[in-house]
Amino acid sequence: MKKLTLGIVAITFLFTSCNDDNSDEILDQSAIDMSSFYLYTNADSEEPIRIAEGKSVCYSMVNLNRLLNENKGLNKIMYDIEYNTRDFIKKKPGNGNGGNPNNGGNTPPKVDNLGVVNIPIYVHVIYSNSQQNISSAQINSQITVLNNDFRKTNSDANQVPLEFADLAADTEINFSLAGTYKYANSRVSWGTNDAMKVAYPPVTPDTHLNIWICNIGNGILGYAQFPGGPSETDGIVISPQYFGTQGFVSAPYNGGRTATHEVGHYLNLRHIWGDGRCKKDDFVVDTPTSDGPNYGCPSYPTKNCRSNDMTMNYMDYTDDACMSMFSEGQKSRMRAILQPGASRASLSGN
Ligand SMILES: [Zn+2]
Repeated sequence: MKKLTLGIVAITFLFTSCNDDNSDEILDQSAIDMSSFYLYTNADSEEPIRIAEGKSVCYSMVNLNRLLNENKGLNKIMYDIEYNTRDFIKKKPGNGNGGNPNNGGNTPPKVDNLGVVNIPIYVHVIYSNSQQNISSAQINSQITVLNNDFRKTNSDANQVPLEFADLAADTEINFSLAGTYKYANSRVSWGTNDAMKVAYPPVTPDTHLNIWICNIGNGILGYAQFPGGPSETDGIVISPQYFGTQGFVSAPYNGGRTATHEVGHYLNLRHIWGDGRCKKDDFVVDTPTSDGPNYGCPSYPTKNCRSNDMTMNYMDYTDDACMSMFSEGQKSRMRAILQPGASRASLSGN
């Protein structure tokens, strides 16, 4: 509703300008509405409550709060990344302004020419016992899940209810295993303050997704660093029993969807409920609002705000067996971050 109101104001202004006929002002329809943008969330208090309730969580938003506190320049960097993301999405052909001759010529379209992008992965396995020293088969099973989920070739894609089926996206992003590093270390749990990355730094994080597999502890499945963060800690961390689909895995997070979820964050996706109540957004137009995460395997429809929740989205907290899609809007956000000049362009060879 806010955007519609702004649009009416903009059109009114346009006609007013034309009537005056002596104004050189060009209405900048390329201006990006950043009013919904936020970085800090209540994750620092909310996630520990969920843990205390015995629930499993992702710590990406808590990690983001910490990084924002530690790096005073990060706020501006992430604001600019968000601005450019919204600019790209707004100017995509077929998405409103892109290529529209009525836009005054000041908003040339931004075309996604990348085709299928392959992201190479380095896996760092840090183990204190033989179980945590996961096998190549387990690692490869995770790469397979990532490729199926991001290319919409997952066998459970047909679980998406009709309401959302047309929104389910092939993100046209592939993954390949570039190498595995193994480190024996007596430390039993690594927490979420990037200790594993200090001990074992990422390898060429500009061009490779680095994934640390180590016991995080405390019911935490994993956490990711969003685009814009320090390169020396860039990548994602997952506890070994939530990585892949075979070997040392633990139900109900034995479907490889923790990595799918964390790579989503790494490519600039927020949680589907926006880490706030109904009015907080995940900056994606085609994902319904929700006032919190869903757990387990919710039946359809599940409603927390005024619309049905997309509980089967990879960016919710539902069981691995009950999530099965990214949306087209999420695809646009992820691909925006890979475009030439964007924060993760070098992952796509640009
Ligand atoms: Zn998450």
